[in-house]
Amino acid sequence: MTVRIPVCEPVIGRKELAYVKEAVKSGWISSKGPFIKEFEQGLARYVGTKYAVSTSSGTTALHLAIASLGIGKGDEVIIPTFTMIATANAVTYTGAKPVLIDSEQETWNIDPLKIEEKITRRTKAIIVVHIYGHPCNMDPVLEVARRHQLYVVEDAAEAHGAEYKGKKVGSIGDISCFSFYANKIITTGEGGMLLTSNNEIAQKAALLKDQAYEKERRFLHREIGFNYRLTNLQAALGVAQLEKIDDFAEARRRNARIYNSLLEDLECVELPPEADWAKNVYWMYSILLKRQAPLTRDQLASRLMDGFGIDTHPFFVPIHNQPVYSRQYEGKRFEVAENLSKNGINLPSASNLSKDNIRYICSAIKKKLRA
Ligand SMILES: *Cc1c(COP(=O)(O)O)cnc(C)c1O
Repeated sequence: MTVRIPVCEPVIGRKELAYVKEAVKSGWISSKGPFIKEFEQGLARYVGTKYAVSTSSGTTALHLAIASLGIGKGDEVIIPTFTMIATANAVTYTGAKPVLIDSEQETWNIDPLKIEEKITRRTKAIIVVHIYGHPCNMDPVLEVARRHQLYVVEDAAEAHGAEYKGKKVGSIGDISCFSFYANKIITTGEGGMLLTSNNEIAQKAALLKDQAYEKERRFLHREIGFNYRLTNLQAALGVAQLEKIDDFAEARRRNARIYNSLLEDLECVELPPEADWAKNVYWMYSILLKRQAPLTRDQLASRLMDGFGIDTHPFFVPIHNQPVYSRQYEGKRFEVAENLSKNGINLPSASNLSKDNIRYICSAIKKKLRA
């Protein structure tokens, strides 16, 4: 069957088209132009940080974050093993080593209680990931970071608009990184942003992002920088998307409520978390199959596609199980992450998903899991 309902599609409207057209017509098509500042300042204001540095992707924002903290060879950075590959790669690019932590059952995010035992003299930072739109439990992470003088970086690539105890994620750690890939909550096609309220970090990130051009003499470089620039065309899309960011987050929360109400009587399914201190934005509406489920996750996924045209994603493969990383972590077990990875499935989650489509998806799931 062809795909009837994709997992996630961008919602692009007339404003996006108008702003991009304006950018093209103005001739400012590279990384100078008014939409860039507007997008940067807009997101910083929305999230609640002083500074913003736009980047070419979420991955480059993360790399820039670690590089701007002066972290490199011989250093260690603590990350959750249950995350998308970019979190680990960003650390590896700098020469530092990702040190992995299991997830907690309650939120699927890094388990704050397991961080301290992994801290060594080499540890410089902790990257938390607000996975699938659910904020990480920040207070215990900040507390252990403070005690050991570690930086905290938030990978907020999946959590635009999510809140921890009433505060927007991305405003809590020393640095936060967002992605605007086409399936993220707001998109610029490809793109990312580094946010911080630390002036020194912001300046360093801006310098490194743009080939480390020195101010006093053109074409003079004292460091190895990068070209991680976002274009004015992408920023034009971003400015239009930013105008709707709260609508998108609300739409996803409404969709999650509908999903929850239709799936809550399925005993073999665990619904997505929302801790009482959390505002989840459900980047992906995600469920876990329990042991008593009559199908495996992969069987369910292929039956939803073949019989109903419903596209889904399996959960991420933990970093320690990635062929490219597994040798570094041989013999280590991370049981919560492994269970998530084996039994978790992301259901269609676009901001414009209709109530009828959610009903159709849930009835298909029930047919397969009750059979
Ligand atoms: C999407 C994502 C990234 C990378 O963002 P890109 O823009 O695709 O480079 C990083 N971390 C997490 C958790 C993500 O989901």
